[in-house]
Amino acid sequence: MHYKIHLSPPHMSGRELKYIQEAFESNWIAPVGPNIDAFEVELCQYTGSRYALALSSGTAAIHLALLTLGVGKGDIVLCQSLTFVATANPIMYVGATPVFIDSEPITWNMCPNALEDAIVHYLSIGKKPKAVIVVHLYGMPAMLDEILYLCRKYEIPLIEDAAEALGSEYQGRKAGTIGDIGVLSFNGNKIITTSGGGAMLSDNAKYIEKARFLATQAREPVTHYEHAEIGYNYRMSNVCAGIGRGQLEVIAERVARRRGNFQFYQTSLSGMSGISFQDGFTDMLSNRWLTTVIIEGRGIGPFYIQNVLAEHAIESRSVWKPMHCQAIYKTLPRFGGSVSERLFDRGLCLPSGSNLSDDDKKLIARITCDGFET
Ligand SMILES: *Cc1c(COP(=O)(O)O)cnc(C)c1O
Repeated sequence: MHYKIHLSPPHMSGRELKYIQEAFESNWIAPVGPNIDAFEVELCQYTGSRYALALSSGTAAIHLALLTLGVGKGDIVLCQSLTFVATANPIMYVGATPVFIDSEPITWNMCPNALEDAIVHYLSIGKKPKAVIVVHLYGMPAMLDEILYLCRKYEIPLIEDAAEALGSEYQGRKAGTIGDIGVLSFNGNKIITTSGGGAMLSDNAKYIEKARFLATQAREPVTHYEHAEIGYNYRMSNVCAGIGRGQLEVIAERVARRRGNFQFYQTSLSGMSGISFQDGFTDMLSNRWLTTVIIEGRGIGPFYIQNVLAEHAIESRSVWKPMHCQAIYKTLPRFGGSVSERLFDRGLCLPSGSNLSDDDKKLIARITCDGFET
């Protein structure tokens, strides 16, 4: 399918080129160099995190977060079920078992009640979970007060998968800086991109130090090549970090545009009975990475609207399919009800790029409304 309007395409600012030029001129074409150091500092300045580590992907960041927290073979990790598969796969990389937690219906993220049921269950059989991974889906922060309270009460570290939530806020603090470790992604479809990349955030210097060591082949600090642990090649390229620096300069505009998309869709579609939107609480600010709607009643489902949009070469996507419904994970334990399954059945992500024109938006809204009327 060749789309005219994409779901979430890259949006270059033009400022990236200056940093790429610098990389070429200084010949720092490597996973070390001044753009990487500066990008990490600028990520800290923007998010308020004490430390940041630039990596080759968000998936690598989750993998390193788990390793840093000492998660390994046979351990239990409690993971939000409604998410992209990259949240859960690293749990398998380290030989641990993911246990999937259902969502609550407001933010669509991890349900604190289901989380506590899972924690209590595993404690009762003498198997304390090693970590919790919460996701801020489509940019909407999860119920972090409740989730952090449980993590502190039971002394389980919290990883925030903020891959979709750069620029989102919870009680005035940036997503990814509230748990013990935060994860960002700069993949091509995210709110800002380095073409491919990610980062790990933490206020804990030891975690960042450990992850940096593992990301560079676990090379011991001696003059020859000495290795006492298995490492990885997970650092970001200095060229990619240059793209990231140019993108980070315009992050505020990108967040404003995506939030504007949401407001437009909400205004033009909320009159239709049968459409509702992913919501938040007053202390949450979503970057609205993707505007997602629930389509109910009238005998019309999201797949119908998706097809109608596709006929006009407009790309839309269903909401993530829950992990506990995936062939690779469906035999694993899960806690909670079927909120995430319902969101998958009824949810649709509308085109949400920060370069979407007003005319594009009007067209999408009109076609969606017409789809409802037929
Ligand atoms: C994109 C994404 C990731 C993975 O990031 P990559 O940089 O693509 O590896 C992880 N979790 C969620 C929720 C994502 O959307």
